[in-house]
Formats: sequence, C-alpha cells, structure tokens
Amino acid sequence: MTERIVVVGASLAGVHAAEELRAGGFLGQLVLLSAENEIPYDRPPLSKAFLAGGLGETELALRPADAYAALGIELWLGAQAAGLDAASRRVRTADGEVLPFDGLVIATGSRPRWPAGLPRLDGMYTLRTAADARALAADFARSPSVAVLGGGFIGAEVAATARKLGLDVTLLEAAPSLMERGLGRELGDVAVGIHRDNGVDVRCGASVVGATGSGRVDGLLLADGSRVAADVVVVGVGNEPVTDWLADSGLELADGVVCDEFCATAVPGIVAAGDVARWRHPRHGLMRTEHHANAVEQGMAAARTLLGAREPFAPVGYVWSDQYEHKIHTLGFRRPGDEARMLAPGLTGFVRDGRLVAAAGIDARRELMRLRGTIDQGGPCPARTG
Ligand SMILES: Cc1cc2nc3c(=O)[nH]c(=O)nc-3n(C[C@H](O)[C@H](O)[C@H](O)COP(=O)(O)OP(=O)(O)OC[C@H]3O[C@@H](n4cnc5c(N)ncnc54)[C@H](O)[C@@H]3O)c2cc1C
Repeated sequence: MTERIVVVGASLAGVHAAEELRAGGFLGQLVLLSAENEIPYDRPPLSKAFLAGGLGETELALRPADAYAALGIELWLGAQAAGLDAASRRVRTADGEVLPFDGLVIATGSRPRWPAGLPRLDGMYTLRTAADARALAADFARSPSVAVLGGGFIGAEVAATARKLGLDVTLLEAAPSLMERGLGRELGDVAVGIHRDNGVDVRCGASVVGATGSGRVDGLLLADGSRVAADVVVVGVGNEPVTDWLADSGLELADGVVCDEFCATAVPGIVAAGDVARWRHPRHGLMRTEHHANAVEQGMAAARTLLGAREPFAPVGYVWSDQYEHKIHTLGFRRPGDEARMLAPGLTGFVRDGRLVAAAGIDARRELMRLRGTIDQGGPCPARTG
C-alpha cells in the first residue's frame, strides 16, 4: 500500500504532480519538499512583467498560500533534498532529516549554466528564481547600461523588458540570429529586426570571452578584441538539470533523470517530471525539454503513473514567449538538420523526411495552432499560403 509519497521540488512540475495525486484519489501522506523559502511561484513572469514591476508578489504565486494545506499537502519550505537511496526508498534532506517513502516524484528542475572561464563579478546575473529577479530589478532601477549574454528565449525577454524600462541594452549572441534553436534562421532574423526596432544593440556572431571590472563588472570582452561597456550583465546561455543530489542514488542519470515513456525510472515507484526528466517520448525517443507546458503536463502524467496508470507521455511540445507587443510560439520538437520552410509571413515549418515535425511563429498563433494535428501525427508539410 502507498502510504507516503514525497515530491522533491515545489515548482510547476512538483505542484502539479502533488495536486494530481490528490485528484487521482491518493489519500496517504503527501510531502512536497522545496529548497526555496517562499511559496511556489511561476517563473515566466520573472523575465517579463515581474521584472518590469508590473506584477506583484501575490500574483507571482502558483497557488494561494493556504491551497496546499487545503489539499492535505505538507509543503516543507527551505527543505533541500541532499540525497536519495533508491534501494531503501529514503530521501535525506540537507538538515539531516530522513524521509522513507513509498512513492517519489523527482521534480528538481534545472539551473542556469555559467560560461566556462567567465568571472562572476558583482552586477552579473543569471535569472532563475524570484530572488534573482528581485535583485536584478533593484539593479535595473539604477538605470544602468545592460549587456545580455545569450540571445535565446530568456536573454531576448530580458533585453525586451530592459528596453521597456528605458535602459540601454546590448544583446550578444554567438549564433547568426536570435532564438535560432526554436525559431530557425529566418524567423530569428525577424526577431533581430524587432529588437533593433525597439532600440536594442543586437550583435549576432558575437563570442564573449571575458568580463572587465574590479569587484563590479563594467564590461564584456569579445573574441574580436572589442569591449562592450555595461553596468549590469545578464547571462542566459542555457540550463542544466538539477541532479547532483541524486549522484549516489542508484538511478540512471544522463543529462537528466532517465525515464521510460511513462516518466518512470527503472526503480518501481520513482518517477520524474519537468526540466529534470529525460524521458522516452514514444515518437521522438529520449528527450528533455525546459518549458512551462511540459512541466505542468509531465508533472500530472508522472503522478498518474505513480497511481498505477499506463499512459505514455507524448506531448506535441509547446513554447511561448512574449517580447514587446509580440507573441512568439513554437510547436513540436525541432532537431538540427530539419529543413526550415516559410509557410506564411511569420510562420516557419520544420520538415524531416518529408514530415512536418515542428513549427514556429511570430504573431501567428492561430495559424500555428492549425498545424498542431499535422505535427502531432507527423503529416506532410502543407504548402505556403502567403
Ligand atoms: C525567467 C524564466 C522565464 C521563463 N519563461 C518561459 C516562457 O515564457 N515560456 C515557457 O514555456 N517556459 C518558460 N520558462 C521555463 C519554465 O518556467 C520551466 O520550464 C519550468 O519552471 C520548469 O518547471 P520545473 O518544475 O520542472 O522546474 P523548476 O521551475 O526549475 O523548479 C524546480 C524546483 O525544485 C527546487 N529544487 C531543486 N533542487 C532541490 C532539492 N535538492 N530539494 C528540494 N527542492 C529542490 C528548486 O528550488 C525549484 O523550486 C521560463 C523560465 C525562467 C527561469
């Protein structure tokens, strides 16, 4: 009988898993461990409305503070899991507490990478937590010049928010255009134009090799020998899954917690979800993805597996980003080598072996969503319409 389920990580995947466990009829003890000291909150606003000062602390919360107790979920704040013994089914916290469990959901998410060799001076940030966003917002309030290192989704969003706040912004990206991994070259170039029109100094093909300043950063050095002056630097060069606490657990780790198509590890009763999970997508094979919709849906799917369901987790893949007044969306899972085809103005399809496997749009949500079924089934790529 399952008497105690422990969920490690109280963010999107963990909170949705805990709620789904209750919705699915689990009546036993349910403990939700959070390494953070504040009630679970949403991350997308951290680079957008919350950073801009347009969203309050209460609105950032995923649920009202009393929602957890109402569902009989024991939310342990400031309780970092420090180790797992999968064989004896025990989680150990950093405070030395040992928690035996019958079921375990691993939902420890991901953390920002820091470029090798780049010093970490005052005024240099990554953006993952509400605390990061508060500190960055306080620095932005001093009207600094800002350099953003990395033109992926988060870097581009931070650049847009900083411009909204009237700051001088330089956006540095090593690739030839922005958000290219998700959008492809042509739409990436459209994004470059949008940022330039909004006053960002976008420099693609720019490789950052160092930072200057004594104590506090005052600039970044580029491989071509030039220097970009900046009072604040935001680094957004990708994430890594948080699995260090699982090093001796006996679970298979390979850029994430390796799971089958049901989000289950090889150890019965242990599942993983969200940014930390590398699961076997029935159509795309082993994969890990770091996006909001996936964390929500996979948290719920992993919980159902724990309760005995046998439904493969096979999402279509959906990402959104807001920059200025523009809405950016992607569907599907694009791989390097997929052929990009412009399907309409602002809409690109990605084709593999003649099948439409992904698409991306800027201000083209309706048109993009019409492709959802085709992408899900790997159908033929439609003809260009505009
Ligand atoms: C600034 C920002 C903007 C974003 N914007 C978008 C967007 O516009 N669209 C989109 O699709 N996605 C966006 N994302 C991505 C999305 O927010 C993530 O994919 C999502 O938060 C992943 O949820 P998760 O629960 O898997 O992991 P996380 O949100 O990373 O949460 C993991 C939690 O586990 C905790 N934890 C870690 N280790 C331990 C431990 N040992 N013990 C206990 N707790 C632990 C962490 O403190 C954290 O609270 C954004 C992310 C960020 C950071």
